[in-house]
Amino acid sequence: MRKFKIVTYGCQINVYESEKFAEFFKSSGLVEAKGIEDADIVLLNSCAVRGKSEQKLYSEVGYINKLFKKNGKPVSVVTGCVATVKEKEIRRIGQKSVALVMKGTRSLKERFDALKQFLGIEFVEQRREVQGVFAYVPIIFGCNNFCTYCIVPFTKGRERSRTKEEVLSEVRFLLDKGTKEVVLLGQNINHYGRDLRYKNGFIEILEEVNKLPGLERLRYLTPHPADFTTDDLKRMQQLNKLCPHFHLPVQSGSDRILKLMKRGYTVSQYEDLIEQVKKLFPEASITTDIIVGFPTETEKDFEDTKRLVLNVEFDKIFLAAYSPREGTVAAKMDGQIEESVKKERLNTLLQIEDEISARKNRAYIGKMTEVLVETVKENEVIGRNPQDKLVIVEGKGRRGEIVSVKVTDADKMHLRGVLRGTQEKDERSALEKTEND
Ligand code: SAH
Ligand code: SF4
Repeated sequence: MRKFKIVTYGCQINVYESEKFAEFFKSSGLVEAKGIEDADIVLLNSCAVRGKSEQKLYSEVGYINKLFKKNGKPVSVVTGCVATVKEKEIRRIGQKSVALVMKGTRSLKERFDALKQFLGIEFVEQRREVQGVFAYVPIIFGCNNFCTYCIVPFTKGRERSRTKEEVLSEVRFLLDKGTKEVVLLGQNINHYGRDLRYKNGFIEILEEVNKLPGLERLRYLTPHPADFTTDDLKRMQQLNKLCPHFHLPVQSGSDRILKLMKRGYTVSQYEDLIEQVKKLFPEASITTDIIVGFPTETEKDFEDTKRLVLNVEFDKIFLAAYSPREGTVAAKMDGQIEESVKKERLNTLLQIEDEISARKNRAYIGKMTEVLVETVKENEVIGRNPQDKLVIVEGKGRRGEIVSVKVTDADKMHLRGVLRGTQEKDERSALEKTEND
């Protein structure tokens, strides 16, 4: 039996697509290999957002080529963002071991068709597997924003929304199989439905999904700060399943840099949005993405970013050093910043943020929080709370169950806690034990 292995880089959309590829392979009669070394076919789902992620792909393609030369297998199939823009380079490095390069802009169905041809399969019936407690559901692919540093509009193409019916039917299917939490996805999710001429598509799909029976938690990624309206926020307040977590990528705290990035908002507009969020959702966590070392970024610009970080007090920041991406406007700008300066600024912000994250997490100590159990260990369960914080809980619980937890400790990465009502739980597990005996 042929064996496949999937390696995924980058965003949640890639994670979602890789799951679909795994289902495809399994339903085509292949089995999952333990590692690349014992696979016949390796699917590499690539990310081009930064130079580093692109390099990781090339080194894997090179490694597979080495194995291929020695053992005659595996071959690689490359898809995702690097595959869209760097087919030549992939083929140069992987030579004959590269069986297929499938652009990430192509629909899943088109890519399945290409794979079917390659594998020599006549008919494939989708066997849909659901294992997760939570599941990603893309509602819009691609991006029209063209932020000047970003390659995504080139690699994932223009915005394409899935219809409301399609989204709802996928979510219903997942809930039916036991999924508790759904994370709706889009590069700029606020634009959902524009290409289908839906009015207020984003907030309406949230409202529709929120109504579905069986759903415990609803999340979405990634909103764009320029596209959030007060009306959206007020309507979100009414959604009982929606988790109090806002990921609002700011990228920089300098108006001059935001303009060069073409982000479409000023620092004060962003701060207004944060203020509204904090007022309407006092329990919410707020996270962000920041790029340091964008072309021409001065010490003063960087100071402005620092000031914003100190003012907002983000629960978590996904920090990146600017990485020039071929074909984007910013890559051609004068005033590229030296790597050493980028690194220094990155470290400065990391330190500031570590302190803030730890302080924000410690504020949970002594409070109750609800954890959706994802991982069960012997005397410990691990999951996330509504604010998307990772919580390690002493005690027993079942996967997919929401447990009440008293937080006893915290650091910058997680919260720790104990189950409330352990006694009740003990009785129940004792009962289960006798039932099982
Ligand atoms: N659509 C989302 C995510 C885009 S990519 C959004 O608009 O926020 C995820 C993150 O990668 C971005 O938020 C940005 O912080 C970072 N990123 C994108 N291009 C980058 C580049 N060229 N260099 C460094 N970081 C980059
Ligand atoms: Fe890239 Fe900007 Fe689109 Fe996000 S909104 S994917 S950063 S172009």
